[in-house]
Amino acid sequence: MTQKIDTLFTNALVLTMDKKLNQYFPGAVAVKDDSIAAVGPEADIKKEYTAKETIDCGANILMPGLINAHTHVPMTLLRGLADDLRLDVWLMGYVLPVEREFVSPEFVRLGTRLACAEQIRGGITTFNDMYYFEDDIAQATSEAGLRAICSQTVMKYPTPDAAAFEDSLARAREFIKKWKGHPLIVPAVAPHAPYSCTPEILKACAKLAIEFDAPLHIHIAETSFEVETMRNENDMPVIPYIKKQGMLEAKVIAAHCVHIDRGEMQTLLHAKAGVAHNPSSNLKLASGFAPVQKMLETGLNVGIGTDGPASNNDLDMFEEVRLASFIAKAASSNPTAVPAAVALTMATRMGAQALHLEHLTGSLEAGKRADLIVVHSGPLHNSPSFQRDPNSAYAQIVYASHSTDVSDVMVNGKWLMRAHKLLTLNEEELLAKARETAKRIDAFLIAREQSVLLKLIALGGSMEQESFEVQAKVRLAEADRVVREMHRSEIRIIRNVRYRQHDTYFSFADLDEGRLRYREDDFLDDKGRVTNTRARLTLIGAKREDKMAHDVLLSRSRFLAPATQGLRFYREYFKPAVETSVTKDRRRWLVKYKDTEFFVNLDEMIEPALGHFLEIKSRTWSRKDAEHKTELVNELINLLGAGNGEIVTKDYIEIVKPG
Ligand SMILES: [Zn+2]
Repeated sequence: MTQKIDTLFTNALVLTMDKKLNQYFPGAVAVKDDSIAAVGPEADIKKEYTAKETIDCGANILMPGLINAHTHVPMTLLRGLADDLRLDVWLMGYVLPVEREFVSPEFVRLGTRLACAEQIRGGITTFNDMYYFEDDIAQATSEAGLRAICSQTVMKYPTPDAAAFEDSLARAREFIKKWKGHPLIVPAVAPHAPYSCTPEILKACAKLAIEFDAPLHIHIAETSFEVETMRNENDMPVIPYIKKQGMLEAKVIAAHCVHIDRGEMQTLLHAKAGVAHNPSSNLKLASGFAPVQKMLETGLNVGIGTDGPASNNDLDMFEEVRLASFIAKAASSNPTAVPAAVALTMATRMGAQALHLEHLTGSLEAGKRADLIVVHSGPLHNSPSFQRDPNSAYAQIVYASHSTDVSDVMVNGKWLMRAHKLLTLNEEELLAKARETAKRIDAFLIAREQSVLLKLIALGGSMEQESFEVQAKVRLAEADRVVREMHRSEIRIIRNVRYRQHDTYFSFADLDEGRLRYREDDFLDDKGRVTNTRARLTLIGAKREDKMAHDVLLSRSRFLAPATQGLRFYREYFKPAVETSVTKDRRRWLVKYKDTEFFVNLDEMIEPALGHFLEIKSRTWSRKDAEHKTELVNELINLLGAGNGEIVTKDYIEIVKPG
């Protein structure tokens, strides 16, 4: 009596990718319902099973589907949006502003469908995702028929799906509850990274993951900058830090781990954490070379991932597997490092182990789910084949096969692609919708790129507030006199500070854009030591003349924003035509004169060395008030003994300030 099954794959070179790396040729795989019933030599299997459908694999390769251990699938819609930039400019300047504007449940569903289509075509049967609106991603993925860990992102910043981290935590809890036990989807929580989460968030995510026995997906030690900052701020590297937050009690999937040491690898091993290595992303963002060989020697389960399609830019695991092997060889000057069989194991069985899914998928073994692919082994770029050494088959897949050689894909016992035709997704329709979305994003960025102001707003993305200011600046022959006259009885000093100001002005080809000033204030104590530093950005509009009483004042608009990034970031983001730098020593008094508050600045221009200047300014709310204050500014200039100094500017300034 033979057993009845659904599908019998015959005439295949079966690469089981099991622990012994068993191969069968001609081999067969029996599939019943959602699972693999048997794997072995074709003659044996045929004797035991009769199938509703028999598939002749044409002597091609039959193997487990590939496992993409780390990605952000909806970012297919941001593929090629901005490239060849540093991580911060790419992220803060482009990705985050576009995500704030466009990411919605509909957006992530479309992006996920596109990614599923691409991944099915490339032989990927399981992926590990991290993004927003993960409930919609899970829905679109399960409809496409792929297996996935879907991880709901939590971080300290507002995200497209949550105004605060408490909301995203609540969202993650609901999401995990809803999808727990689904045949294809494993719900998980993803605290984005140690640097983008507070210790409180990290602890709460760990608690949530443990409560539901859900995986915890996180970016770890991607850049050396991250590790340096962690050491400076917490006196320890990244892995001990997340351990301190109780994270290693959960089923951790640590993406990247580019900059971790042997001790940290041991800690991860003890915690049974999985690692997701992302070769293309690490290369493209110049993050460094992950110590893959050392992690494998330690005994860690290292899977391979594409990372998001905005930093790769495709979801091609054949390329990733090849790079994983090549990079390990090049980085260790050892051509025997990460051989083909190991690289392919990382992308299959070990990848499943890294994702804590080894009981379900990753190899062709009886009892596991039927997640398998057929890879054509005879195209021009992959011929001929050798039989002498079983490693030849792995070398063929890893070093020569293309993702387009995948002809058939089955997940959980269901066909997703037959003879290169997608069965669960309409490719033409998806592509048309993707083009439509790209057009809208393009229009948004084109409009923004035309104006320095809009680019500045895109960074802050917050409220605007207007105010006005009168200001006069006088060149001084003698600075000491101003300091003495400040103590006159008519002037009451409220407070005074001294600082060293470094200003960098960005000018643009279009003079109407005005100038953007990046200012760093080093606050100095009595002995001239720096006690504190702050940085601000000011967009100074082009000058307009304005007659006010008997003074001709210059009017310009100003836009203020806190500078949360360094000068290098703004230089690469705004791309100024000309850049000039000024350093001055500033003594600043806040004074009251005739019941009105004024700022009095006494500046010594150090670089370039231009001598001393007196600057007096006051906030104002109406034109009438501005006229009155202009009178008072003139009086103050005279009181401080600077009346015969050359007046450099008198400005009436409109100030716009994002909250
Ligand atoms: Zn990532």
